[in-house]
Amino acid sequence: MTQVIRQKLKNHFLLGFIPFGANCNDVLKPIIEDIKELENGFEMDLDNKRIWITGGLGNITSDLPEGNEQARIKNHNANHGCRICIIHHDELNNMSFDLAMGRRYHHKTSLQFVELDNAQTHGEKEFLSQQYGIRNKPSIFDNVTRDRHLQCPHVRLLAET
Ligand SMILES: [Zn+2]
Repeated sequence: MTQVIRQKLKNHFLLGFIPFGANCNDVLKPIIEDIKELENGFEMDLDNKRIWITGGLGNITSDLPEGNEQARIKNHNANHGCRICIIHHDELNNMSFDLAMGRRYHHKTSLQFVELDNAQTHGEKEFLSQQYGIRNKPSIFDNVTRDRHLQCPHVRLLAET
């Protein structure tokens, strides 16, 4: 599908709601398993033809706290609580913030997670977590191929055209 057709609401499919109080990972686990199977690919018969099917995660649409959790970024009230950039909480009104320089990039954040995961002490983990604005606990979406910042954007409106 072209980008324009992909963005139409009729091409978005609701897989389910996470009930209040439920463990998010328990609800998402079967979906993650399906996405992993789709990433590996499989054959399927369509119109008497053997077709190879493959795919993966598109975008995660969620509210602010859940989106930060799925991107493995600290809450929005942390010092660096934006999942798109590393602006400090005290600088949120800085209109000259250089977004290109201060943007979070998947490959950079991945290195920060390696550093965090390799930290030896609880204090060191806390320091790195606070310094980078990242969470100790992995996201269930870390099990599939994705860019945690690009594929978990802040909510934007989709226009039906
Ligand atoms: Zn930001």
